[in-house]
Formats: sequence, C-alpha cells, structure tokens
Amino acid sequence: MSTIFDRIIRREVPADIVYEDEQLIAFRDIAPQAPIHVLFVPKTPIATLNDLTPEQAPIIGQLALAAADYAKREGFAQAGYRTVINCNGDAGQTVFQVHLHLLAGAPLGHFGTPIR
Ligand code: AMP
Repeated sequence: MSTIFDRIIRREVPADIVYEDEQLIAFRDIAPQAPIHVLFVPKTPIATLNDLTPEQAPIIGQLALAAADYAKREGFAQAGYRTVINCNGDAGQTVFQVHLHLLAGAPLGHFGTPIR
C-alpha cells in the first residue's frame, strides 16, 4: 500500500529532505514535536514494526545509524536526542510505513504516560 512517505521518496510530494541514500530518506516532520524533528524512513515498504522480518532487521539499524550520524553532523549528539518508532494505534502511528522519529534541540519531557 502506498503511503505519503512513498510519495515523498518518489518526489511526488515536497518535503524538507535532510539526508538520502540507497536505503533510506530523512526529512523534517511537517508537525514538529521538538525544535528538531526529523523522520528516517526506509525505502523498503514495511507497514509497522510488527511486519519486520528477521531478514529486514538491519534496516532498523540503518535508521538508527543515520539518525546518530545526523545528530553528530548537526552538532547535538552530545546534548542528546530521542528516537521513537510508533507501532499501531496505542502508540499513535498514523503513517503505515515504518519510520524512526528523531527529536532534539531542547530538554524533552517524560514520555510513555498513558493518556487514558
Ligand atoms: P507516526 O505518528 O509515528 O505515524 O508519525 C507520522 C509522522 O509523519 C507525524 O509526526 C506527522 O506529522 C508526519 N507527517 C505526515 N505527513 C507528513 C509530510 N507530508 N511531511 C512530513 N511529515 C509528515
């Protein structure tokens, strides 16, 4: 199934792309939840973390490495950052193509508190 992120990868929808290689693309979140909020998206279609196969496990490592490299390059790796992968409804996943959120740029509040 095609998602908005597939359309960004195909350049059918504009995005503020900050990094791309053969495996993945990274662009700024359209509704940032922190001063720095970048999404790292693999080019392999995988709807949720539940759908990741053992053979695809390195893809998650690639997302994490790309996020850490970005943090180092941009100079906030030492200050710190948070990475998040939401899965399905209780986590609030809205785009069903696996992606890693990178949040940074200020001290971040506690997370994981149930909202109901
Ligand atoms: P999730 O809730 O984990 O599925 O996160 C999806 C994220 O994608 C949200 O933070 C949205 O703000 C973001 N998003 C949706 N559409 C776009 C877009 N066209 N460009 C950039 N970010 C987007």
